[in-house]
Amino acid sequence: MTASNEKPRLLTGDTPTGRLHLGHYAGSIENRLAMQDDYDCYFLIANVHALTTRSEEVAGIREDTIEIVRDWMACGIDPNRSALFLQSEVPAIAELTWYFAMILGYGRLMKNPTVKDEIRVKNLGDNYSFGFLMYPVGQIADILAFRPDVVPVGEDQVPHIEMTREIARRFDQLYCGVSGQTDDADYVKEGGVFPIPAAKTGRVARLTGIDGVNKMSKSLGNAILLSDTPKEVQKKCNKIFTGRGTMEDPPVMENNTVIEYLRSFHTDQSRVDELVDAYSKSELGDGHLKKEAAEAINTLLDPIRERREKITDADVVDALREGTKRANAVAEKTLWMAKQAMKYDFFERGLELR
Ligand code: ATP
Ligand code: MG
Repeated sequence: MTASNEKPRLLTGDTPTGRLHLGHYAGSIENRLAMQDDYDCYFLIANVHALTTRSEEVAGIREDTIEIVRDWMACGIDPNRSALFLQSEVPAIAELTWYFAMILGYGRLMKNPTVKDEIRVKNLGDNYSFGFLMYPVGQIADILAFRPDVVPVGEDQVPHIEMTREIARRFDQLYCGVSGQTDDADYVKEGGVFPIPAAKTGRVARLTGIDGVNKMSKSLGNAILLSDTPKEVQKKCNKIFTGRGTMEDPPVMENNTVIEYLRSFHTDQSRVDELVDAYSKSELGDGHLKKEAAEAINTLLDPIRERREKITDADVVDALREGTKRANAVAEKTLWMAKQAMKYDFFERGLELR
């Protein structure tokens, strides 16, 4: 835990491999908004990790960086309260990545189910870069650089947080003399540099994409974006795969993605009960449910759209500059604490951000 006179700390982030979608909203952003007042919040744009799959289109990474931060601010993430920052401009993260890579087993990394899933789902085959395997280690550094108490994430990220917790324990045991018998909650009290951070999944831990199968994902083309127009939302909802072969087939009630969206985003759940009941008896078809799902989603997105209109590129860059300064202050301190623990503290150094 952080010192008792301070707020507990929260860190999470998004990779600029596309725009934010409804999965991000229900999986993580809602939690961020709910916790923004009670936690000292750090929100990272993982622009270095975006290179794992986009090293040949850096212009797209830059554009998505701006758009994701604009989405954050449009959703209600407030740069005056929370630090919004760029991974590439916090050098302590890159340095910590090296130290953590040295105490993480290669075999352990390759057993991480999220790494295996990403290789499969994104069709990376054997063609992924060396850096792709570095990104989960880098993510450990993204998190631990802030010594956070909690990390709001979607379900797919939980294995990464588990690995982060293992590395925090290992570092504290190896270099800070913390006993392996210590309770997770007591690592810092026992002299550890790193707390053992907890993953916090959202109201919807894994939102399905409009393909009706995979996790809604920026890079799979199955996402409804927070920046989609009302028409685009309706069009995408019309494409949702509900598991039915033809309209003559009976409705599929299990794992039906339209029902999932109605459950996740409609503000009147008794109306959803009625719709689902009528649908199960074939009194209503897929088209009707899709239309109501699109309306519910547009109701959620309308105020976000309105706020987004007013946020300029300059507002975004100002927020990132200020947030990155605050992020560097914390991350540099963490790095110094880690170096002290490792007896690499020959002399202190400063970092100036212009
Ligand atoms: P990519 O396809 O590039 O991996 P992504 O859509 O998975 O993109 P990330 O930037 O990797 O998005 O994830 C940002 C955060 O949002 C993570 O905490 C992740 O767990 C969460 N998240 C992503 N997709 C979903 C989803 N469909 N449901 C719930 N949470 C999600
Ligand atoms: Mg992802």
